[in-house]
Amino acid sequence: MIPLTRPEFGDEEARAVADVLKSGWVVQGPRVAEFERAVASRLGVAHAVATTSCTTALHVAFIVSGIGPGDDVICPSYSFIASANAIIHAGATPVFADIEDDTWNLDPSDVARRVTAKTKAVLAVHQVGLAADLDRIRAAVPDRVAILEDAACAIGSTYKGRPIGSHGNVACLSFHPRKTISLGEGGMLLTSDAAVADHARTLRSHGASVSDLDRHQAKGLMFEEYRELGYNYRMTDIQAAIGIEQMKRLDDLLNRRRAVAARYNSAFCKSEYIQIPAQPIYAEHSYQSYAVRLRPACRVKRDDVMRELVDAGVTCRRGISPIHLEPLHRNRLHLSLPITEAVAAESIFLPMYASLPQEDQSRVIDAVLRAVAR
Ligand SMILES: *Cc1c(COP(=O)(O)O)cnc(C)c1O
Repeated sequence: MIPLTRPEFGDEEARAVADVLKSGWVVQGPRVAEFERAVASRLGVAHAVATTSCTTALHVAFIVSGIGPGDDVICPSYSFIASANAIIHAGATPVFADIEDDTWNLDPSDVARRVTAKTKAVLAVHQVGLAADLDRIRAAVPDRVAILEDAACAIGSTYKGRPIGSHGNVACLSFHPRKTISLGEGGMLLTSDAAVADHARTLRSHGASVSDLDRHQAKGLMFEEYRELGYNYRMTDIQAAIGIEQMKRLDDLLNRRRAVAARYNSAFCKSEYIQIPAQPIYAEHSYQSYAVRLRPACRVKRDDVMRELVDAGVTCRRGISPIHLEPLHRNRLHLSLPITEAVAAESIFLPMYASLPQEDQSRVIDAVLRAVAR
């Protein structure tokens, strides 16, 4: 079976972990600080705050942005459920908006329709690594509404020529193994605002006024105090050591993913049955994942296409399950989002990772073209 994805680890990552274990310092410390600097400098953002996951980074992002009980946050339903969960963890309410038919990201005009006096923020998700149209979303809502970015899939993606994370909003990355670089688990909050970064650092470590490392390195005695409710959302130095090595590979991994996508695109764009991922001029895709959508001309049902791919040894997944249709929300909302539901029902995720061999790319392409033309 050709897998859907594969983390890209080498001997460098293994050595880096061994070095941390030998050093005797394994909790958040010097390696986390170094990993934060590496990400901040590569993405052109002033401050990076590592956390245990993108979900916890988003939770902190909402709190530091002053969003909580009584507030509404507009977000796409066409996303992983964690996008909405983080809003609820902060005490706020997710308000689902529909997506665009081509980019499968938030539709700014539908966002505008859902704004009320309770709307405090929009969570723009850069789904599978394609940047949402941040400027059009900004223009669709009043100035008082904050924009936050779920950039879980978007390390290395660009919007209007600059990396995602550097556009002045609080943005959060994920380092789960399904993403472009991975540490097992991990996340990071990015911000241009020093006060926001300081507050996030406090919240991720129980709300303590002093970090473990600062206390350890202090010359004299140093005591921490706790002024607000915090969390344990600290990344370990073991994870960060992997992350430092993964960052050295980032540009190579992105180039290789883009090469796989270019090959898929040129094979599939000729088929009247297949819609390939959008390539809007404002975005450079990172292809964290690669999905095709079956066009109306395709007579084969989506699930039958998937069954054939599996029989041909190609792992695949159905389109992202809309969050508003999950039992957690379904009975409360009775909401219909036509484009979200159509894209979810008609799309298929195909194998996508940097080291996907040429022969396997050919097998995926042949299997897809055969399955849709039955
Ligand atoms: C993966 C993902 C998340 C969750 O990331 P974790 O690091 O696993 O918490 C959130 N949002 C989107 C869009 C994702 O793809």
